[in-house]
Amino acid sequence: MSALLEVAGVSKSFGPVKAVDNIDLTIGANEFFALLGPSGCGKTTLLRMIAGFEMPDQGRIILAGQDITGVKANKRPINLMFQSYALFPHMTVAGNVAYGLEMEGMRGAELDRRVAEALDLVQLSPLAKRKPAQLSGGQKQRVALARALVKRPQLLLLDEPLGALDKKLREQMQIELKRLQQETGIAFLVVTHDQEEALTMADRIALLKAGRVAQLDAPRALYERPSSRFVADFIGQMNFLAGEVTAAGLEIPGLGCFGAVNLADHAIGTRAELAIRPERVELLDGAVSGAIAAHVSGLAYLGQDLILHLSIAGRAQPLVARVPAANPLSTRLRQGLDLWCRWPAEHSLVLSE
Ligand code: ATP
Repeated sequence: MSALLEVAGVSKSFGPVKAVDNIDLTIGANEFFALLGPSGCGKTTLLRMIAGFEMPDQGRIILAGQDITGVKANKRPINLMFQSYALFPHMTVAGNVAYGLEMEGMRGAELDRRVAEALDLVQLSPLAKRKPAQLSGGQKQRVALARALVKRPQLLLLDEPLGALDKKLREQMQIELKRLQQETGIAFLVVTHDQEEALTMADRIALLKAGRVAQLDAPRALYERPSSRFVADFIGQMNFLAGEVTAAGLEIPGLGCFGAVNLADHAIGTRAELAIRPERVELLDGAVSGAIAAHVSGLAYLGQDLILHLSIAGRAQPLVARVPAANPLSTRLRQGLDLWCRWPAEHSLVLSE
């Protein structure tokens, strides 16, 4: 991966709040990168520093080998697409898209060609003569995208780009954004608090917690090998069972000793938690060695899958299981049923804070 953007030791405080705390990361040319994390973790502040709207207290921002830390926002080959879209209401769609290039002095056939190309890319050519007030939310969003892409930046920054759209449109646009990124070859840096959005679109994700990188990985690694309880809890759903690390596995009071793929990373005698994804919990209608007796205390039908809450003796929190609705057992599953459950050690993780 050739590096396009390098963020090196960047920090930023607002009074006593350390919004960004010594962050290092590298984004490749042609990469779709997501900054993900709960509200207030510093995503927007980091994005604004990369855009040049905010100066870091410490650290450097390097783009294509050039230190741009002190370079003004409008002199950076970077574009930022605002969440509000910030379209000019009195201009047509084509006028909005042309504006940035006109400001650079472009005119005539070249300008027309570039605008037509950008509108084509976001499939808005038939609406070129409309005003923003005559567009739907999704269409406005496409104009904002075309306006950002028309300048052919090396890096496009998008702050919660799909935040204003409804769920269905958001899912469509996730795929669309990914296509646009691949077609243009421009590196995209997206800020989102929506983990599903980040998992769907990004090549790599940096999950932030309180101004720091909690984990930086490809979506699958983040989901399958979270490095801490925070990451496991933020990405998808996870069951946690507290216990003590032994040589044989995690000893969970009242349940037994359970193996896990990363057991060896933890010191014997320390407290930790066993983490199991709901879809890894298997249901059995008979007792087998190592299976745990459970009682179905809740059941939700999701169409493709069923979500079950399983009460286990001596535990206040139910274990959550997610099974395909087409499962042979599924037709018999109902609230109040007694059954057994287990999970494979190769899909269990031991996690600490
Ligand atoms: P959200 O998803 O809610 O937008 P975020 O992850 O983008 O959150 P930031 O907006 O970067 O988080 O804020 C990080 C921290 O810095 C927060 O505690 C926020 O209150 C604080 N902060 C951000 N901008 C300012 C500012 N201009 N003045 C004071 N505090 C600020």
